[in-house]
Amino acid sequence: MQQPIAGYHRDEENHWVAKLACGHNQHVRHDPPWQNRPWVETAQGRESMLGHLLNCKKCDEGAPPDNQDEVRKS
Ligand SMILES: [Zn+2]
Repeated sequence: MQQPIAGYHRDEENHWVAKLACGHNQHVRHDPPWQNRPWVETAQGRESMLGHLLNCKKCDEGAPPDNQDEVRKS
């Protein structure tokens, strides 16, 4: 299901995670050549992608909402 990006946070390994409007999280790693998302590396790039649609597999699976709070190292 296509869901817009509503915000971002970093996970415990410092990877960027998009918070989708549906309540799920999705990693948006910049990991060339497999995943090429240079926009995620800059605040301006992330800002420009707000509202961009990502395919949310969790919605397709009927998964419960993710915790969208900031993830911190304990
Ligand atoms: Zn979803």
